[in-house]
Formats: sequence, C-alpha cells, structure tokens
Amino acid sequence: MRLLLKPDRMFAEVAFPLPLPKPFIYRVPPGMSGVIVGSRVLAPFGPRRVTGVVTALRQDAAGIGQTKDLLASLDTLPSVSAELFDLVRWMADYYVCSWGEVFRVMMPAGMLSGNPARTRVERRVRFSPAWRHAKAVDALRTELRGPRQIAVIESLAGYVAEGLQEPRQADLLARAGAASPTLRRLVQRGVLEIVEAEAIRAGVIDAGEAGALPERTLHPAQAEALQSISACIDAGRFHTFLLHGVTGSGKTEVYIEALKQTIRRGRTGIVLVPEIALTPQIVRRFRAHFGSRIAVFHSGMGAGERFDTWRLLRSGRFAAVVGPRSAVLAPLSNLGLLVVDEEHGQSYKQQNPAPRYHARDVAVMRARMNDAVCILGSATPSLESHYNAQRGKYTLLSLPERARRSVGKPASLPDVRIIDLRSTASSTSLSPWLEDAVGQRLARSEQVILLQNRRGYAPLPGCVRCGWSPECEDCSITMVFHKSGHRLRCHYCGRTAPLRERCANCGEASIEAFGTGTQRVEEDLETRFPEARIVRMDLDTTSAKDAHEVLLRRFEEGHADILVGTQMVAKGFDFERVTLVGVINADIGLLLPDFRAEERAYQLLSQVAGRAGRASLPGEVVIQTRNPDRPVLRYARDHDYETFATRQLAERRALCYPPFGRMAGIAFRGPRARDVADLARRWTDALRKEAAGAQVMGPEEAFISRVKKQYRYRSMVKCRRGDRISLQEALRAVEEGMGSLPAGCRVNIDIDPVGFF
Ligand code: ADP
Ligand code: ZN
Ligand code: ZN
Repeated sequence: MRLLLKPDRMFAEVAFPLPLPKPFIYRVPPGMSGVIVGSRVLAPFGPRRVTGVVTALRQDAAGIGQTKDLLASLDTLPSVSAELFDLVRWMADYYVCSWGEVFRVMMPAGMLSGNPARTRVERRVRFSPAWRHAKAVDALRTELRGPRQIAVIESLAGYVAEGLQEPRQADLLARAGAASPTLRRLVQRGVLEIVEAEAIRAGVIDAGEAGALPERTLHPAQAEALQSISACIDAGRFHTFLLHGVTGSGKTEVYIEALKQTIRRGRTGIVLVPEIALTPQIVRRFRAHFGSRIAVFHSGMGAGERFDTWRLLRSGRFAAVVGPRSAVLAPLSNLGLLVVDEEHGQSYKQQNPAPRYHARDVAVMRARMNDAVCILGSATPSLESHYNAQRGKYTLLSLPERARRSVGKPASLPDVRIIDLRSTASSTSLSPWLEDAVGQRLARSEQVILLQNRRGYAPLPGCVRCGWSPECEDCSITMVFHKSGHRLRCHYCGRTAPLRERCANCGEASIEAFGTGTQRVEEDLETRFPEARIVRMDLDTTSAKDAHEVLLRRFEEGHADILVGTQMVAKGFDFERVTLVGVINADIGLLLPDFRAEERAYQLLSQVAGRAGRASLPGEVVIQTRNPDRPVLRYARDHDYETFATRQLAERRALCYPPFGRMAGIAFRGPRARDVADLARRWTDALRKEAAGAQVMGPEEAFISRVKKQYRYRSMVKCRRGDRISLQEALRAVEEGMGSLPAGCRVNIDIDPVGFF
C-alpha cells in the first residue's frame, strides 16, 4: 500500500543561516504547495521571520511538542539540488558548522537574508504556433493589411532569422516603428503571442563572441598532461591531478583544453581562480575561448547580477563558471570538471564567517561525488597536495618548461640574486645593488616590479645585524612580542620568554621590529628616481571598485615604469616588458608565526620571480634579506621545489604538522574579558577530556587580544593522521556539552586552519 502524505500531517525540517546545531521543525500548513526538500521557506523564529531551507520532510513530529506553522513557501524549483545537498551535508559535518551556514555561502546574498534581489519580468513576443514557419510568414504578408502590422511581422521574422525567437516587446516595437495597439491587434488575430519571461540583467551573459584565437599546438609536456586528463574525462571517472608547472609553463592552456573536452561530452565545469580582480588575464582567456557559454563571478558584480548568474547556472544556461572560492558551490548540474588554479592560494580558505571551508578540498570532494575530474594547478603546490601526489592519491603531471619560445627555445627562468642586507649600511629600503638594477631598467625603458609584503600587525622582533629571531623550541615558529607583560610568546603553545635587548646569536644590542611599508618604498624610489613613473598597489590604493584593473592596466600599457606593492603584485599577470623583480625584505614573510611561513615565503618568492622575463627579454630577480643563509631562499633562487618540499615535509612529519597531523583552531570571543577567559578555559579543558590522545594547546590570549571591543582567546588541537580520533566528533561533543554560552560570547571552530588565527 502506498503511504499517502496527508497535508495536515506534514512537517518540514528547516535549516537557517545561523550557527544552530540542528534544523528546526515546522508544520506545513494545509494547502501550502511547493514545500520540497531544497526549497526555501519563510518561518517564524522567535520574534522574527527568517528564511531557511527545507532539509527534510516527515510525517510526524513526535517528541517535538508544539510546532509552529511555516509562513510561506518561496521556491517552486528547489534552490539546492540533491547533488549539492550531499555536499552541504559533508561540509557541515567536516567543518563542524550548521547546514544553514553552508547554504549561506552557496546562495547569492539576499536569498537567505536581507532583501533578495528581485527577479525582473519582461514581455517578449513570438509567433503563435500556427505561424511559425517561413511559409506562413509569407502568407501573412499578403493577408495582412496595415503597413504597421506588416512592419511588426517583418521585424519579428528578421529577429527569428538572426536566431532570436522571442525578442523583447520594446525592442520589437522600436525596430518596427510601431506601437502597442498594432501588437495587440496581431495578438487578437492569433498571429503573435506575448510571453512573460525573466529578464536577465545586462552583463551577466557576455555579448562578446569567442574571439579569433591563435592556432597553437600543445607542447609535448602539455599534450601528455592533457592525454592523462582526457582519459579520465572520457571514462567519466573521478580522479585528481596535480598539474605542477612553473609560471608561464602553459597550465591555463591545459585547463582550457580539458574544459573543451568536458563540454564536448555534455558535461559542465567549474574553474576556480584565487582572486578575480587579480586575475583579469585568465578570465579574458576563458572568455575568448568559450564566449557566452561561460559565466564569470567577480567582485565587481552587483547583487542583482550575482542573483541572475546564479539562477541561470541553475537553469543550465552555462556550460561552465569561472569564479573565486565560493564558485565551488555553483549550482551546475552534470559536473564533469573542477579546476583549481594556483591551488596553494590562501584565498581559497574562508576565515570568517563559517563555514571555514577550503575551496580546494571541497572541489576534490565535489569531483568525487560527481565522478568528475579535478585539476589542481600550481607552480608551487601546497605541501598537502604535493604529499598527496607523492603517495599516489593524486596523479602528478609536470610542465617543466616555459611555454613561450624565444628564438626556438623556452623563455628561461630568471636569474635570482640574494642580497645580504647585513652588509649594506643603506638607510633606504633599496640596497645600492637593487638601486643600480632599477636604474639600468629605467635607462632601457624596461619595467620593474617591487614587492614589499608589509608585515601585518604582528610585532616580530629580530636582530637587524645578523637576522636572528627568537623561535619556540617546541613549535619551531617565530615568537611574538606581547606588550602586556613585555615578553615573547609562542603563539601556538603559549611558551613565554623574556625579550632581551642583546641578540642571542651575535651579542649585539640590535634587536628591533623591522619592516617598512610600501609607501616608504615608493618615497625612496621617488627620491632616487624622480623621473620614474610609479604605480603603488596595496590595500590603501586598491580599495575602490576596479582599482586593481585600472592600476594594472596603466602598468601593462606602459604608462608606468615601476609597480610597487604587497603580495598583490605577485599574482598571475603576464607583462612582457618586466625584466626586474625586487623583493625589498624577504624576512617579513619568513618570520610570520605560522608553521607554513617557509612554505608561503617559497611560494611568494617563486611567484613574484615568475613575473620577470615572461617573454623574450631575460629576467632578473633580486631578493633582499638579513637571513641569506635560510635554505628556503636558496631553493627559491635555484627554482628547486623538490628539495624544498622534501625538507619541509620531513620537518612537518617530525612536528606532526599537516599533512601528517590534523589541526583545528578554536577561537573564543566576547565583550567581557573574564567571561571569555573563563569560557575558553572550560571549553579547552572539556576538549582535553574529549579528545584524549590529541595534543590540546591553549587557551592563549589571541594575537590581537581585543578587536572591536571583543576579547579574544584561542586554543588549538593537533593529532596524528593515523590516530583514531575524530577531531570533528570531539569538537561537536564539547560544543553540545557546553550548552548555552555567556552573554555575547562566541566560539568559532576552524578545521585545517590556515594563516595565523
Ligand atoms: P601558466 O598558466 O602555467 O602560467 P599559460 O597557459 O598562461 O601558463 O602560458 C604562458 C604563455 O605561453 C601564455 O602567453 C600562453 O598563451 C603561451 N602558451 C601556452 N601554451 C602554448 C603553446 N603550446 N604554444 C605557444 N604558446 C603557448
Ligand atoms: Zn644578531
Ligand atoms: Zn610553541
């Protein structure tokens, strides 16, 4: 016997975009239609009305007590497909967050909170079925009288001939030079129909067609990589590839070919890029190849455009999407390919708010759930991915040479020179050596990029004479100076040490916090090279919309000689006339209190070095440092990723850092210092019991202990990969056991944390 759902006995579980551990149960009032799993509903929540997503339907609400009625059903099509549902479930589980928090990043702003962007409706005109054939249109010409009616018919026939079956009413009338009464008569005679259709905002579908592209043959290494990828695409089999190729080796070309292949097979693709504002060139290339078949999510988009793009993706209008982190959750069906360009990029990890997900890891998981292929591309793969390739979980594909040829041979990698700042008494940010090098480029009208990765807010002390800086013996990371207590402190385990004026290495009284900002570098350049045209790119100069593009274009088009900036200047641009790249102070990155500091430094140095000598002109890189003996600098100089990675992995293994260990960070904050400190202590103690066998560190007063009138503490937990502990289960158990928190306090869980927190 079939079980009939009685409408008066239907209940819906609803997830809200809030940090709530469980969905809430509501009664679906009789007569309310469209309430299906994955659809949005409006529900009473305390004194408010909140939009949520239906996660399950059931016939009983036993043990729930009184349930409230849903107020409205907001979708006819589910907003979340069954496929995405599985992904949401996995993400909520893995990242220890609520389903609703995942829905929040999945849907465009406004769909779950605030004012939703509206669907605009417009009127379109088409022939009624009887008159759709070309012959019928000819017959009409003789049958119709009024010249204006004929003009309308002919204009519409013109649109149809151009491939547009249903032009907008306004456009049609304008073209025909007619007014609505004429149209109305034609509708009454049964010749035309008017349909209401959703209007799509301008800019969502690119009008530009795929441009003429240079025919090119893939180089052997590219062809070989593509062949392995194609085999999996053709077989419809899940597999992850790590495409390791120096900057300019032609990875993007491989992504494009793989996407073409995927689309030919009738499947769709997602291409993730680190920050769209910083990667206009890659987007342009995808546009050139795929024209209006791809959608692009970018930061300059308004809420309306985002909303339209999302709906069109869901309706199957696009074959692929290019976008930043959150595009990994785009509502494409029949997904066959996921590409993560610059997979090591830090921007793939969401910090706040929850879900604190890593888009690369989600991409691999989504590929797995869809029998799709995942390509992770990088010049300097993250050690996690490198290790996964080493142990055979991913297949490594290498592009060892640059793709562009100069006189028949690959454009060479730049020469890298390390300048020891300890031996210069220079009071400016540029050593005499770097000054000379800049001067030469200016004289030859070549271009220069200078990187000054201004140290964040961390007061990192070090010896200005010998470069030594204090490190924690247990955690092997730089210690941070805390003003309160005037002591050094390990930001991971809490070990403290006195800050001495004398350097423990050379004995001189030369400990200072060093590092100057980009502005200072610009000033030094202006003094030394008054005639040079300088573009500065950092948070201050790029806050305006499109500022990146404008600054970059100025440099690209040769209206500037020198580009100075933070790590933004290291991203994937391709400037032909850049022949010198200078790193003002490499120590800043090396000393960050993060176990990935060396990895980051290596990535940044290689990446910025990759900006030099991209085409026919040879490039040179100058790295200034007070730590010239740091091995990472040598490896970067020699472009020796392999040795660097092997060494780093050995260290990570010894200290049980990822990829050998698993980590989670727990951040506590609240308005009252004592409450937060007390909560942090109780929480962390409970975690020690719950995650017996794991190493629980903290609680520690956070780096910036008070931000926006909030007091902050953090703890960390680390365990070996092989340990039979589920960090997630332990964290969830503590969260549940803790019950409600003191007023205004929050606990944020961060699985696989990245950066300092
Ligand atoms: P990556 O993504 O690894 O930085 P790109 O795909 O951007 O490398 O390639 C670098 C440059 O070389 C681009 O200008 C690209 O057009 C060119 N290129 C790539 N592959 C080829 C090829 N097979 N033949 C000629 N030029 C190529
Ligand atoms: Zn010293
Ligand atoms: Zn420590």
